[in-house]
Amino acid sequence: MKIVRVNDHGIIYYGKLENDRVYRIEGDLFADFVVTGSSVALADVTVLAPIIPSKVVAIGKNYRAHIEEMAKAPSSALEPEEPEVFLKPPSGIINPGDEIVYPDGAQRVDYEAEIAVIIGKKARYVKKEDAGDYIFGLCLLNDVSRRDVKKTTTQWVNGKGYDTFCPMGPFIDTEAPLAVKTIRSHLNGELRQDGTTDLMIFSIPELIEHLTDRMTLLPGDVIATGTPAGVAPMQVGDTIVVSSDELGELKNKVVAEKKPK
Ligand code: MG
Repeated sequence: MKIVRVNDHGIIYYGKLENDRVYRIEGDLFADFVVTGSSVALADVTVLAPIIPSKVVAIGKNYRAHIEEMAKAPSSALEPEEPEVFLKPPSGIINPGDEIVYPDGAQRVDYEAEIAVIIGKKARYVKKEDAGDYIFGLCLLNDVSRRDVKKTTTQWVNGKGYDTFCPMGPFIDTEAPLAVKTIRSHLNGELRQDGTTDLMIFSIPELIEHLTDRMTLLPGDVIATGTPAGVAPMQVGDTIVVSSDELGELKNKVVAEKKPK
C-alpha cells in the first residue's frame, strides 16, 4: 500500500494513494486503521512529508563507491567496521516541493539521495532475522549536507542539522520493504546518482539490529540508510529530484537564506 499524508484545504490526514486518488485513512497508522471509501483527487491536495518522527537516525558511509568518492581513495581500507550513525533533527524535515534553504556563507551543500525506513512498532534488541517485522515501510529522503562545516568539526549534526535539510516523501510504500529498491538523483534534470539497496555495506536488517542494541526506535522513527556514489554540490536556484522506481519522486528547489536583520 502507498500511504500519503496530505493537507486537504487545511485538514491534515493520512490516505491510501491509488490511481491518483487519496482514500482517507481513519485510526492509528501504527495500530489499527481503516481505509475509508471517501476519496479526493491527488491533484486537489498538498502532499506532505509522510511522517514527523521522534528522531531521524542516519547512516553515513554505507555504499562503497560513495566512500571512495568522499575519500578520493579505494574504499577497502576505509569501510566502517560498524555503521556510522548520526542524527538529523526532525525540525529539518520538509515536504515534497518545499524549498531547501542554502545557508548564508556556505561553501558546499550537497544532496544525498537515500532510502528511508519507517519503523512500525517499538523496537529494542531486535535481531536482524526479525527486523522485517518492525518495518512499516519505505520512502525517499534527501540527506542534505553542508560539507564545509563538516570539515571543521567531528560532529556531523553541524552540517546535517540545518532547517530544511531533510526533505521526505512523497509516500510510504509498505510493500516488500526488504526487496531491492532503486535510488537515484537528478540535479537540474541530469542523472547524478543511480544505485540499488543491495549495494549497501550494512543491510537494513543489520542496521535495525545495530541501532536497537543502543536505542529504542519508536513507531514512525526514520532510518536514513546512506547514499550511493554521485553526490555533488547544489547551488541556489537548482532543482534536486530524488527518485526510485518503487518510491516515486521527491523534488525540491534550493533558495538563498534570508536571515532576520
Ligand atoms: Mg547521508
